[in-house]
Amino acid sequence: MSDIIKNASKHLQEIFKSNHNVIIGSSHAHAAISGYLGYKSKKALLADHYDEPIEDEFVLFNYSSLVSLPQLEETILRMKDSPLKKMPTHQITNAIEEALTPGCECCGHKTIRSQPLFSNDDIDNPIAQVCSSCIRNEEGYATCHYCGDEILYRTDDLNSAGECSEHRGEGSYSDEEREDWESYVENVTNNF
Ligand SMILES: [Zn+2]
Ligand SMILES: [Zn+2]
Repeated sequence: MSDIIKNASKHLQEIFKSNHNVIIGSSHAHAAISGYLGYKSKKALLADHYDEPIEDEFVLFNYSSLVSLPQLEETILRMKDSPLKKMPTHQITNAIEEALTPGCECCGHKTIRSQPLFSNDDIDNPIAQVCSSCIRNEEGYATCHYCGDEILYRTDDLNSAGECSEHRGEGSYSDEEREDWESYVENVTNNF
């Protein structure tokens, strides 16, 4: 069991220190993350979760509709004395998103340049996170032509035509269409 918000706060402090040479306290890190998730305080965030620690690794994915820039800005304004006040907002939000992103299942790297991975029968609940360089370099990942690039699957979950279970058989291509599709896949893979 791990407390996602606590871990993310620690990670956030580390990012600010190593990438921006900025030291922030634990309470401000907690407050910034809570603010980004649309809550006035960590207490308010927890109150909304029956005062239990949040253990959902995919909190950012699952609560993306709550994300609030105005709330984050208000939270930072309210801090008495913080280097965050002088930082550009996009640096702060990038750091918070990285802190809330699960590590890559391949290399362990926590980065916003990554995608959630889905199983074939449930595209609403991610099963893992994979960074873009592992998606590019490892053979185990693929996308379904019909679901689009946003939905990452394990290659084993797709059929030989690269279709997920929902779209199985949808591509009864002519040879010409098949060639177009293959060059499309090649393009997508090379440009990712
Ligand atoms: Zn990786
Ligand atoms: Zn599909």
